[in-house]
Amino acid sequence: MDHLTKLENKSIHIIREAYSQFKDLGMLWSIGKDSTVLVWLTRKAFYGHIPFPLIHVDTNYKIKEMIEYRDRFAREWNIDMIVGQNEDALAKKLTFPDGNVSRIECCRNLKSQALKDTLSGTGKRYRLNQDTGEYELEENPKPFTGVIVGVRADEEGSRSKERYFSPRDKQNDWNIGEQPPEFWNYYKTDFAPGTHVRIHPLLDWTELDIWEYIQRENIPVVSLYFNQGNNKRYRSLGCWPCTSPVDSESRTVDDIVKELKTGKFANIAERSGREQDKEDGGGLEELRKDGYM
Ligand code: SF4
Repeated sequence: MDHLTKLENKSIHIIREAYSQFKDLGMLWSIGKDSTVLVWLTRKAFYGHIPFPLIHVDTNYKIKEMIEYRDRFAREWNIDMIVGQNEDALAKKLTFPDGNVSRIECCRNLKSQALKDTLSGTGKRYRLNQDTGEYELEENPKPFTGVIVGVRADEEGSRSKERYFSPRDKQNDWNIGEQPPEFWNYYKTDFAPGTHVRIHPLLDWTELDIWEYIQRENIPVVSLYFNQGNNKRYRSLGCWPCTSPVDSESRTVDDIVKELKTGKFANIAERSGREQDKEDGGGLEELRKDGYM
């Protein structure tokens, strides 16, 4: 069995395991390449159908093409799509782009807090109506107890400390030292009532694995990943005020795979274009302890 098929099998096993163990399960879809691979794997795991909602936390500052891509494929793949936002912080302009708070505080408001409120159902949630193509306010939203997330261990330091099944407490906080061990592919999936569990089927994948899988499966991804004539492309997608493209001539997936194999980015962090990482001491541990994806 080749390397990509081994990774695919393990990820599909974890996704199916999560589905069998968690009644109120959802999957975060950031619209980036990793979580889009996760969506693709889930469609393969359940024969084209995604049996739980996909959740997108919309900071209101995502690049326009990302939202267009989300809504196009949510309709095309018949996804049960849920969108949440920290409307209160946006209304009070408690954001970095408005010039009122630091990037870390802005991420806490628009990502961590928005995620907590969206997952717990205490914040407003909007669900895509596949008949009308419009998002509608969800009545009586239920909390999610398990959430599948597309983080990879090689992406940045704090993510390498995650487990496949990683518990958070009732406040969604992450106690890194108290995670259960996962020896010999045995996963702890029974947790105390009230525990919120993050599930990470892509922990073993590298950036190159993701692109080779996108190439092999012909997965559609946001056009921002490609050089569209200015010799720049995004290596990692995020909010437009805090994300910069890298210099690259890659116009296609094949070009990106070749580019990565040259080692051009070997000593440049994948998220080096994300300004909030730099403000969190070069990693994301503080933000991630507090619920950040
Ligand atoms: S990435 Fe920038 S705009 Fe987006 S939530 Fe963080 S600080 Fe705010």
